[in-house]
Amino acid sequence: NPSTGKYTVSFIEGDGIGPEISNSVKQIFSAAKVPIEWETCDVTPLFIDGLTTIPEPAVQSINKNLVALKGPLATPIGKGHRSLNLTLRKTFGLFANVRPARSVKGFKTTYPNVDLVLIRENTEGEYSGIEHVVTPGVVQSIKLITREASERVIRYAFEYCRAIGRPRLVVVHKSTIQRLSDGLFVNVAKELSKEYPDIQFETELIDNTVLKVVSNPSSYTDAVSVCPNLYGDILSDLNSGLSAGSLGLTPSGNIGNEISIFEAVHGSAPDIAGKNMANPTALLLSSVMMLNHMGLSKHADQIENAVLSTIASGPESRTGDLAGTATTSTFTDAVIKKL
Ligand code: NAD
Repeated sequence: NPSTGKYTVSFIEGDGIGPEISNSVKQIFSAAKVPIEWETCDVTPLFIDGLTTIPEPAVQSINKNLVALKGPLATPIGKGHRSLNLTLRKTFGLFANVRPARSVKGFKTTYPNVDLVLIRENTEGEYSGIEHVVTPGVVQSIKLITREASERVIRYAFEYCRAIGRPRLVVVHKSTIQRLSDGLFVNVAKELSKEYPDIQFETELIDNTVLKVVSNPSSYTDAVSVCPNLYGDILSDLNSGLSAGSLGLTPSGNIGNEISIFEAVHGSAPDIAGKNMANPTALLLSSVMMLNHMGLSKHADQIENAVLSTIASGPESRTGDLAGTATTSTFTDAVIKKL
């Protein structure tokens, strides 16, 4: 906004604990004087002709602002509608899901110092939604892999290595069995690796990756990993479990050519909604990813340091999910003091 000198960002507060953790982010951004104005969007889905549709004002807001922060959305059970999260990815062409998983000081997990970065292809593979009954008792589900989608996510992964200063890209696959589909993914990666001679390029079978990640996660500290959709879905939760012991601390970014949406990995936590108990850390760390994406890295570092040092400073400043006694509000106040 040229008249205020601020960036406008769309904000989907979400369901359940969404409004509480969103409020925490807003308070901390305001205290840190981040040059951002929020534009709140309602994405309560409309079901039109069996399709899940996002309300037009929300689509317009995100198309205009190009960046959005998103709280968790509750998926209606039954009905057979496509999830709203999938609809958002399709609507805005968000082809890469970036999931960093880093241990947090002050909260003990199985391994100390886990620092993993995974990029998941977000639009096709096993999630193409092409399934049919061949004959009763026999079903077929199609895993669709295209050169175009593989190329854009792998190129993004190479660029991400450069951007965050990691010298190694690991392409995770199972092309020994999925010869054509994963084979294409790996071949595209090999071709692209010639354009990135500064990045060490490796391919690794998914079963091998899983074994290595759980036995020695620190062997990936210098790497970014990239993989097709389903492997990425499973591997990213494994990484989160190893680093944080829960999804409550894990941020993510959904990246498209123009539009990017950043979100906490956890859901709407209906069991604790409205009780001032939710941990806003995952949404805060997602907002930190968003600030880095926007080039506002000074504000990103300031907020990240304040959040991490608050968690490290003791159980009285941690929320219940991290075995602490803080509420959402007292945690937020403690972060603001540390800014
Ligand atoms: P959930 O992540 O909401 O909750 C799992 C457990 O973790 C609960 O005990 C909850 O209290 C706890 N938890 C989650 N986030 C927390 C936080 N920030 N602070 C403290 N505790 C936290 O998973 P669920 O119960 O399976 O799903 C609930 C709803 O959320 C469903 O409708 C589901 O579809 C939706 N969901 C949305 C997203 C998304 O929008 N990205 C992701 C996952 C689930």
